[in-house]
Amino acid sequence: MKQGKLIALSAPSGTGKTTICKELLRRNKDWLFSVSVTTREQRDGEIPDKDYIFITNEKFDHLIKFGDLLEYEWVHGNRYGTPIAPLENALDKGKIILLDIDVKGTCTLMEEFEDDVISIFIEPPGEDINEQIESVQQRLKDRGQESETLIKQRTKRLQLEMEYKEKFHFHFVNEDLKKTADKIEKTIRRKIK
Ligand code: ADP
Ligand code: 5GP
Repeated sequence: MKQGKLIALSAPSGTGKTTICKELLRRNKDWLFSVSVTTREQRDGEIPDKDYIFITNEKFDHLIKFGDLLEYEWVHGNRYGTPIAPLENALDKGKIILLDIDVKGTCTLMEEFEDDVISIFIEPPGEDINEQIESVQQRLKDRGQESETLIKQRTKRLQLEMEYKEKFHFHFVNEDLKKTADKIEKTIRRKIK
């Protein structure tokens, strides 16, 4: 049986990792997606239990108490967590499973699952941090799902997230969406051969 792998994709908010994750899953029907639990509100177009499992704070506490989450973090004022059972299942069955999680979540995943993890950091384009902030702000505005205040709050975290970059196995700049998805797919395929 082929060996399963956990593919963690992290990036500052607005870089494009959700879009890239969806494109990789569209191209590879046998790859799975780790559906996180979150206390944040559902966005227009999101499908419950496919994009996220939307739960209350009480339910989140319950999952922590019963050890159902591998890791959990507060990100942009909301709670997000990774259910452990689907990851173990995927590895047992020799499957590839993608995780769209924040930089701290990926670090925890690497500590817990070590060689079973491939970590990928995606950067926004820009010569320096200010240009990178501008490009994610523009992408979040174009996405049109958050207010100016929320967009500012999301981009405030960019510098902290960039500091984690060197901890990841691979880095990519998401300038052109198709080219980035091609490169990431190629890297994953090379590593799982
Ligand atoms: P994230 O999950 O990293 O917060 P999204 O995948 O939601 O980001 O992408 C944010 C917005 O940027 C979306 O509207 C998406 O269509 C757009 N986007 C993604 N990649 C690119 C790219 N390479 N160039 C321009 N816009 C992009
Ligand atoms: P969004 O609200 O834009 O969907 O996600 C906000 C951030 O939370 C993103 O960086 C996303 O990758 C991260 N995130 C989503 N699910 C999880 C999770 O289960 N654990 C952690 N640590 N971060 C997550």
